[in-house]
Amino acid sequence: MKIGIYGGTFNPPHLGHMSSAQAAVELLELDRLFFIPAAQPPHKELPAHGAEGPDRLAMAALMADGLGERLRRRDCVAALDLELRRAGRSYTCDTLAELHDQYPGDELWLLMGSDMFFTLQHWYEPEKIMALAGIAAFARSEDDSAGALAAHAAHLNSTFGARTRVIELPQITDISSTRLRSLLAEGRGSGYLWPTVYGYILRKGLYGADRDLTTLSDE
Ligand code: ATP
Repeated sequence: MKIGIYGGTFNPPHLGHMSSAQAAVELLELDRLFFIPAAQPPHKELPAHGAEGPDRLAMAALMADGLGERLRRRDCVAALDLELRRAGRSYTCDTLAELHDQYPGDELWLLMGSDMFFTLQHWYEPEKIMALAGIAAFARSEDDSAGALAAHAAHLNSTFGARTRVIELPQITDISSTRLRSLLAEGRGSGYLWPTVYGYILRKGLYGADRDLTTLSDE
């Protein structure tokens, strides 16, 4: 079985995550896909006015359900709480080791956007990460040239013996959670969110999103 692992803060999860995940499932022919919200990402601080871990997990689960439905493979996509349950910083090598033990003999693929891909060699225990999983990278904006991604993939392959795949996506937008948090505080941004994730944000009053300023498509 081929298993895709998509880590992130998901604060909130957005259509950039969802469409890149879908492309990875289709192109890598993944059998399962796990979204894994980080408790404490090693590479960045969580924003002061962001959502807490349980809300980020709930939103990632709603995105997972939506993607499962969109792929017509409901049982294949899920959000896992394994990093939120672990104390301390959420190191990817620990997550991969845990999944490797849980799914011995299966093929793990770690999915990431170009911002993460270009820094992968500086993560904690990069050799271990690249020994445990193949790496699939997608461009995040028009500015990420396919050539730059391919050159970095070649560098990781020769330095770490990595197995890499660059996944080309049509860029609908270079949306990020940071941008969305500002948009939501202005009562905008719902077009970049899966409807049930947006509904959750409104119900829980996350990110200063104001129910009165917005209309919900799924209510
Ligand atoms: P923030 O703006 O809060 O830093 P983010 O939008 O980068 O968040 P994360 O949850 O931190 O989202 O990202 C998790 C993973 O998703 C990373 O590998 C990141 O590169 C990737 N990713 C995020 N947005 C996109 C996008 N629009 N297209 C492709 N990959 C993306």
